[in-house]
Amino acid sequence: MRTLGLIGGMSWESTAIYYRLLNRLARERLGGLHSARLILWSVDFAEIAALQASGDWDGLTARMEEAGAALRRAGAEAVVICTNTMHRMAAEVEAAAGLPLIHIADVTAAACVDAGVRRPALLATRYTMEQDFYRERLRAGGVNPITPDDAGRTLVHRIIYEELCQGIVRDESRAAYLELIETLRRDGADGVILGCTEVGLLIGPEHTDLPVFDTTALHCAAALDFALAG
Ligand code: GLU
Repeated sequence: MRTLGLIGGMSWESTAIYYRLLNRLARERLGGLHSARLILWSVDFAEIAALQASGDWDGLTARMEEAGAALRRAGAEAVVICTNTMHRMAAEVEAAAGLPLIHIADVTAAACVDAGVRRPALLATRYTMEQDFYRERLRAGGVNPITPDDAGRTLVHRIIYEELCQGIVRDESRAAYLELIETLRRDGADGVILGCTEVGLLIGPEHTDLPVFDTTALHCAAALDFALAG
């Protein structure tokens, strides 16, 4: 089994899901006492969120490169960035680590295409919904995401940082997300990408009859496939 290097803590609420899911998948695939071989680099998310909010993407890239290189020195054989947003600097991290990087948007686009979904709603941080790095990568994978209007993007982003990343799950926030999903369905959405690794805490396939693509679960499955392929 190959050793996966996780860059996490963004937030730890979702990294905890990665840890549990990767280990559960290893047990399902290999049985008995098997678990995943993992190295975790976990940050203080308050520092990261402040740099994001001030637009210091160069500073963030330097920190992510440092994490990737450290994981390689520790023995990782692939890099898994446990957040959609911080895939903004995926290419730089891959180069700094000198390791393959399992890209969350590639895995998500492939799952949408497999399910026949071509125009999914994308619910994510403002950075992921508005900057090019993520939507372009989805488009390269064959899907054309649609995002909420400005008020909707503000709401989705606020709930991620003020609630989900702090472990707060509110029924009112779920209702607000579901209302946005219905609006996007009327605009032509044929699926929903949970494009932030915490959104699965709030929304699941039981809440809507549109196909739901949870990037955390898809990313873990692809990472474990990679680990078991070698
Ligand atoms: N975990 C979130 C994501 O998947 C947001 C936190 C972050 O900015 O990294 O984008």
